[in-house]
Amino acid sequence: MHEYSLAHALIEGITEHLHQHPVQGRVKAVHLRKGELLILSEEALREAWRILSEGTEVAGSDLRIENVPVKVKCPQCDYEGPVKYMSEEGWHFAVPVLACPRCGGRADVVEGRDLAIVGLAVGDASPDHERRKQGEDGDPQRRG
Ligand SMILES: [Zn+2]
Repeated sequence: MHEYSLAHALIEGITEHLHQHPVQGRVKAVHLRKGELLILSEEALREAWRILSEGTEVAGSDLRIENVPVKVKCPQCDYEGPVKYMSEEGWHFAVPVLACPRCGGRADVVEGRDLAIVGLAVGDASPDHERRKQGEDGDPQRRG
């Protein structure tokens, strides 16, 4: 279950960040970028997040996960950009080919491997919009 250790590391990073840069209000959502090459279950990550965030500054927040495609840089021809994908009939996904699409050489992955926090959505500082009714003394229905 490496989703748990990922969620744990993310929460630690965010809470530390929030201690240094406090925000006004409650963190409603955390935006993540998930590299295409990082194999994880989003469902398990959300579940781990829900459990591990309890009692922290990000308790009750949503995870918004953006999938980041693989990007490579080729040391031979200096190509930098997306890769080609391989897909066979019957496959439910396309597999990125980690080679330079221009010269076919071995290319270095520069993006698509990590899980990174890209932003926080912060809500209203007031916990809710509860309206208090008070002093309804002028009730015409009431009789002494
Ligand atoms: Zn190349």
